[in-house]
Amino acid sequence: MTGSIRLFVEAPLQSGTEVNATPEQAHYLGSVMRRSVGDVVVLFNGRDGEWQAEITTLKRDQGHFEPRLQLRPQPVEPALILLFALLKRDATNLVIEKATELGVTLIRPLFTERTNAGRINLDRAVAIAREAAEQCERLSVPEILAPMRLLDCLGTWPHDRVLCAAIERSDAAGPASRHDPACLLVGPEGGFTPAELDALRRLPFIEPVGLGPRVLRAETAVIVGLALLQAAPAVMAHAPEIPS
Ligand code: SAH
Repeated sequence: MTGSIRLFVEAPLQSGTEVNATPEQAHYLGSVMRRSVGDVVVLFNGRDGEWQAEITTLKRDQGHFEPRLQLRPQPVEPALILLFALLKRDATNLVIEKATELGVTLIRPLFTERTNAGRINLDRAVAIAREAAEQCERLSVPEILAPMRLLDCLGTWPHDRVLCAAIERSDAAGPASRHDPACLLVGPEGGFTPAELDALRRLPFIEPVGLGPRVLRAETAVIVGLALLQAAPAVMAHAPEIPS
């Protein structure tokens, strides 16, 4: 549905139900986009696929939709996990937006020794992810977890789950293969400390990856790392069955 207004809603989507618009959505539809009752929009909620829906009421900050027709079923998405050291507000927002566009399913912000941002506004981050999903025609929104300390996160990491750690100025090549889930770790503006690099290198599940000969900004490293990781060939979790 090119050019349609796409909106994320939390309610279940099925025909014969009524779905509430948020006050922001009602304002956007009526005052910004000049839509009115009877016009159609496209809705998704991350579970029930994509639906064409009619606007059934629209006031200044109130509106309702009726889902009419399922346009696409909910696709199964490959799991893609991003761990990134929390950045300043604008860079963090950029990371959330681009990670959503690039198909990340789970985002975990981290505190590292050189992390110079103290907090993340999770409500704002979720809103950014939803807007990015609406814009890029994705039918789901990545889950954004509360920030955690790097070493605590590594301490609870399942040992059979390969984690590609982006490390600058090393001779590591780009990601050689994509595991399921595919996982990427990117450090802070100031880089990982020598102690953190030592800790990373000692962990059996860490696969150091390089992203080219230049030192990238952390937000650039996230974008490039996600693109390269997804372009890498998938490794099969189990040996394929040989047909008899
Ligand atoms: N200020 C630091 C660089 C930090 S770059 C310094 O001058 O040493 C921020 C993060 O981006 C790094 O922790 C790393 O995870 C990632 N990164 C940047 N460039 C990279 C590259 N060429 N290869 C792999 N990772 C890179």
